[in-house]
Amino acid sequence: MNITRTRSTGDFYCPTCGSLREYRLRARRPFLTIYFIPVIPIGGTEEFVQCSHCKTNSPLAALEQDERTFRESMDLQFRSHVFEAAVMVVTSDGAIAAREIETLVALGNRLLPQGMDRETLGAFCSSIRLNKITVKNFIATVSKPWSTAQKRSALQYLFVATSAEGHIGETQLKLLAWLGDHFGMSQREYENAIEEAVVGGLDVAPAA
Ligand SMILES: [Zn+2]
Repeated sequence: MNITRTRSTGDFYCPTCGSLREYRLRARRPFLTIYFIPVIPIGGTEEFVQCSHCKTNSPLAALEQDERTFRESMDLQFRSHVFEAAVMVVTSDGAIAAREIETLVALGNRLLPQGMDRETLGAFCSSIRLNKITVKNFIATVSKPWSTAQKRSALQYLFVATSAEGHIGETQLKLLAWLGDHFGMSQREYENAIEEAVVGGLDVAPAA
């Protein structure tokens, strides 16, 4: 049995909500129970920060982030998640063409601070294949803190990645449409975003 207590409360930048929220600093300690009564503490106390809005637990380090470092880390996280989603979408048909590799390397160089090359991409693709999570589940999870502008950019980057071969497969087209719906975009907003990506290609602006 875990005994959990609230030690203090305050405001912090919740990485799941992507905004300033109230938190509860909580301490949890496992106890051995006898007839449902906690008797002996086993192991040390573990402290964590719980968001009062989304109930997600974060490590204590979350309390030390000021707004600027929080925004920076959210932006980095957004970029790497979009790249990961792009690789998942492109490889979801089980094959990866030369043009797709080129586009993903270019996308990685645009989005990731450490850049991307073919070897790293190859290793990345294999690790994603081992990961059984579906593209939809992945996007639904990681996109929770994204702003409207970030959702729009994500759709555009995924469109660019899936259209690398000059055409988009039926499954991928359905996935993009699902994305528009999931992000709460109207038909018009969706079409505008896609049109902009058709014209701009990889040069579509990353959302800050
Ligand atoms: Zn939260």
